[in-house]
Amino acid sequence: SVATPVRTRFAPSPNGALHLGHAFSALCARDFAHAQRGKFLLRIEDIDGTRSRPEHVQAIVADLEWLELVPDEPVRYQSENVERYRHALDRLNALGLLYRCTCTRSDILAAQVLKPVPHGPDGPHYPGTCRNRDIDPTKPFCWRINMAEALAMSGPIQWTDLVAGTFFADAMQFGDVVLWRKDAPASYHLAATVDDAADRISHVVRGLDLFAYTAIHRILQQLLDLPEPLYWHHPLLLDDKGQKLAKSKSSPPLSALRLAGQDGPLLIDNLRQGVLPLGISLSSA
Ligand code: GLU
Ligand code: ZN
Repeated sequence: SVATPVRTRFAPSPNGALHLGHAFSALCARDFAHAQRGKFLLRIEDIDGTRSRPEHVQAIVADLEWLELVPDEPVRYQSENVERYRHALDRLNALGLLYRCTCTRSDILAAQVLKPVPHGPDGPHYPGTCRNRDIDPTKPFCWRINMAEALAMSGPIQWTDLVAGTFFADAMQFGDVVLWRKDAPASYHLAATVDDAADRISHVVRGLDLFAYTAIHRILQQLLDLPEPLYWHHPLLLDDKGQKLAKSKSSPPLSALRLAGQDGPLLIDNLRQGVLPLGISLSSA
């Protein structure tokens, strides 16, 4: 049999500057692909028009060039793929798994007081207020997936992670997540899942902070008949308080280092060898 070509991607959201943690993530994806004669792709997750900024897109591309982590194919932009997400949404809708929700943040909080709901890694579940409600489609609404019904259709959820092995997920842990947003097209979960399939990503290489979300992505893959990729959730770079590096915290933006004339490829070589700046450490897997 012919082995599937290895394809990985780095998928930043251009709503802030890249920091060292992003460089590490891109490096993991690039080295993993190249070690197997595979391809490394760059996907800009820019569907959130309220938060994405063109200047961040430009900086991301420039930062990766400076680091010599250049993608092997033309850059993908999620803002160009909205039709693809709409099509996937229609398919899920045809399965009868979606419902419209008009709840605001404060509606959801108020409903939770009346009816306590389980907590997941993202906070309390959506209390299901709109699940069987007639919704006025002329008002702004989002689409949610009825997770219990989706699971009954998809069957149990598992995936293979190169570190964690075969992992069985409690797929109810996020409740009825949003797949299409009021203020922006497709949610991260729908867009990323659909694009990973469209870009024929063989190995989803990304940070451990996204590990639990893989349950949602696997359900969507099953419901949409998409191929199952393998996963490598790599360790995270942590600051001196043990927090993951985030924009504006202990790690300067990569663009500041680039504009200060620092050596990008040297920084990458150091990261590859585990030589980290003072105060920065790698989480255990
Ligand atoms: N856009 C997501 C982020 O910046 C990453 C998506 C992914 O790798 O699946 O956190
Ligand atoms: Zn609602």
